[in-house]
Amino acid sequence: MDIYLALEEHLGEHPDTQLLPASQAESTYGGTTFSDNQTLAGAIKVTDRKVIPAVLSLANQLNFVVHPVSSNKNWGYGSITPDRAHRPIVLLDLSGLCHIEASSKELGLITIEPGVTQQMLYDYLKKNNWCHMVPVTGAGPTCSILSNALERGYGITPHTDHFYACTALKAYLPHPDLCKHQYASAISSLDKTETDFIDKTFKWGLGPYVDGLFTQSNLGIVSEMTIRLAKKPNAFSAFYIQVFDGEKFEESVEFIRTLLESQAGLVGSINLMDKRRLVSMTCQNPNMQQSPIAPLTDEQVNSLAKSKRLPEWMIVGSIYGDQPVVNYVKKYIKRQAGGLGKVLFSDSPLLKFARCFARLPLDFIPAFRDIKAQLASLEEGVEIMLGKPNQVALPLPYWRNSTKKPDKSITLHPANDQCGLLWYAPLIAMNPSTLSTFVEFVRRTMLAFDLDPFITFTNLKHDCIDSTVPLVFEKGDPVQVEKAHACLRQLIDEGCKQGFVPYRLPVSEQARLDKDTPFWKSVDVIKRAIDPNNILSPGKYDASPK
Ligand SMILES: Cc1cc2nc3c(=O)[nH]c(=O)nc-3n(C[C@H](O)[C@H](O)[C@H](O)COP(=O)(O)OP(=O)(O)OC[C@H]3O[C@@H](n4cnc5c(N)ncnc54)[C@H](O)[C@@H]3O)c2cc1C
Repeated sequence: MDIYLALEEHLGEHPDTQLLPASQAESTYGGTTFSDNQTLAGAIKVTDRKVIPAVLSLANQLNFVVHPVSSNKNWGYGSITPDRAHRPIVLLDLSGLCHIEASSKELGLITIEPGVTQQMLYDYLKKNNWCHMVPVTGAGPTCSILSNALERGYGITPHTDHFYACTALKAYLPHPDLCKHQYASAISSLDKTETDFIDKTFKWGLGPYVDGLFTQSNLGIVSEMTIRLAKKPNAFSAFYIQVFDGEKFEESVEFIRTLLESQAGLVGSINLMDKRRLVSMTCQNPNMQQSPIAPLTDEQVNSLAKSKRLPEWMIVGSIYGDQPVVNYVKKYIKRQAGGLGKVLFSDSPLLKFARCFARLPLDFIPAFRDIKAQLASLEEGVEIMLGKPNQVALPLPYWRNSTKKPDKSITLHPANDQCGLLWYAPLIAMNPSTLSTFVEFVRRTMLAFDLDPFITFTNLKHDCIDSTVPLVFEKGDPVQVEKAHACLRQLIDEGCKQGFVPYRLPVSEQARLDKDTPFWKSVDVIKRAIDPNNILSPGKYDASPK
């Protein structure tokens, strides 16, 4: 059966859909940062959520697979899984569903459809004078807010954990009998008023908490989500602590833990980055002429870091509150972190002076250009902390891309630009010596596979830290692609033995999960009940056999 012809026959007349045949679907949606293009039988782009039940019914009837995406920019993780039964895969593009509804401006509750991107929400809030922040991520302005929350992604605005900030959602289930109606929580169906307001304010609903089943799963197509936005603070300051002495790593970890515990609610999440990562953010890769491209040697890292005055470790965080509170926390940080290294605040007179200095027409001086570029990057970091999306993090996947340089003045798309990227994202106990062991483990493993070990830690809470380690490689060279996958497998397998456990996995690694556990067997029972024909994203975080 030609699935495209079948789609045309059943949905072609629908005014709110656009159908793409296989080749166009593959070139538009099939790209990833770690594999050849995914095979697709076609794609459906919808602009009205009412088409979703029709698509699900048809998939049950004709036995094809539906794979929903919101912005399809899950770079480094991937969004589409192949079907083990080799049925045709139809991509369902929800990016045309862009409705934003103010559930309560006073309370900062907003309801969005899957296609609403960080930039769209930012523009909406600005236009309508909201005093709230967008829950931005490093993936940038063109990424969907809803799908990032479904992936349980996080950022560094005060509402760090993006699904935690989701108070309600609506979805379509793949079951042939249930797919015709939109799922909503029990509170939503009890509420006889028009607004659904109570459901939107109260995350846990009534009865079993079902909404969580739609995250990191293949159990439903989420059609809207209500999120609680963080209010813009009256005062704000970012802090940067440059730790030049590598021996002070464990002390730095102690400091971060104590700071998060003692100033909870005032200090946002904190990033801790190593020297290699800082070099990758501020320098061109000097090894681009090599084939294959080698990781930076220690000598190269040290000399590049010296030229830019980069420390061994950099702690970056944010303080939100009223001005006296921000002043108090700044004093606290100065006192507690003074022994670690140089402490700088984004609202300090020094940085204010530097901003004025950077306006001088001195671009012909290389050192001036360097300072100006570093300042611009600090400013973009501050924008992110205040909920303004930008592309500051996006050059990272281009580190080994010899055909394309990341030009931030245009919209970047690492998958379309053939960047090679996989993420290793383990959770680690917030314990100084455990983190030292982790750093040594990642450096040793990645260098053995000729990859640059860029290390970033992000604190979500004082007791648990997440490290997002990018594996950046040459995507044009199949040997390097295979090596990167092998490295990731080793990081995951050996890491788990030491208690470093991923919070999120690239699709290639989801297939390797050990499904013979009570957890995955339970998921399998749920999946069979909700999706008896296994039509929705089979293989995605599910328990299908290897
Ligand atoms: C440089 C860089 C920095 C990054 N920084 C961050 C960061 O700070 N934080 C972070 O979390 N991630 C980050 N990422 C990773 C990733 O790019 C983002 O998480 C991105 O937002 C996910 O892609 P997406 O939103 O386009 O999701 P999509 O690709 O649209 O979807 C992701 C998954 O969710 C499913 N899905 C999507 N929509 C629906 C729906 N409506 N119903 C049911 N299922 C659905 C899809 O099937 C897919 O499996 C970064 C990536 C790069 C390259």
